[in-house]
Amino acid sequence: GVAGLPSARALFGRYLGLDAANVVVWNNSSLELQALVLGFALLHGVRGSAGGWVHERPKMVVTVPGYDRHFLMLTTLGFELISVGMEADGPDVAAIEAAAADPSVRGVLFVPTYSNPGGETISAAKVARLAEMTTAAADFTMFADDAYRAHHLGEPDATVNLVQLCAQAGHPDRAFVFGSTSKITFASGGLGFVGTSTANVAWLSELLSAQSIGPNKV
Ligand code: PLP
Repeated sequence: GVAGLPSARALFGRYLGLDAANVVVWNNSSLELQALVLGFALLHGVRGSAGGWVHERPKMVVTVPGYDRHFLMLTTLGFELISVGMEADGPDVAAIEAAAADPSVRGVLFVPTYSNPGGETISAAKVARLAEMTTAAADFTMFADDAYRAHHLGEPDATVNLVQLCAQAGHPDRAFVFGSTSKITFASGGLGFVGTSTANVAWLSELLSAQSIGPNKV
């Protein structure tokens, strides 16, 4: 199956707090998977988009401080970056709400758990606000890079289920949550995956199946 081995989908579903049906396991790199999904969004839009974002000079919200490779990936793909501050309980959501009043702002990319470099974890209240918020772009999307979800030092922070909260808020397709085992086994030597709605899994699987028989299963 193009969405990954059933056992791997079930494993990372457990890791993300989702069913196997909500997960695509794709090769060895979550960063590559983020770039694939963002590239598909540029070409075709996401579910509910009128067309590819590339035609509308898209902007993406990022947190500052944040992850340098997110900035490099997004600017290389052609996104204009809109920066918002990072607070102790996650991104400055009021600033994201204000930015989302611009229809060319198509989403936000952030690290939900132990964000680099400060280690902040987003609160459930902030995720609920992001899941519910009104946005000028109907296809506003949350891209969460959950690279450190299981990387606790001392008392674990409570992790938040973005996909579940978006479904509860009536925006079931709003969140993509990426992860990998790169910091569990060996960097680039494990598996990358994404958790999202089952409709988004179908959307992504169709696009991936046009370019590959299936992910690396070795
Ligand atoms: N996201 C974050 C926040 C990282 O620190 C890293 C570091 O390697 C990556 C993604 C890359 O992960 P992957 O090897 O799954 O592409």
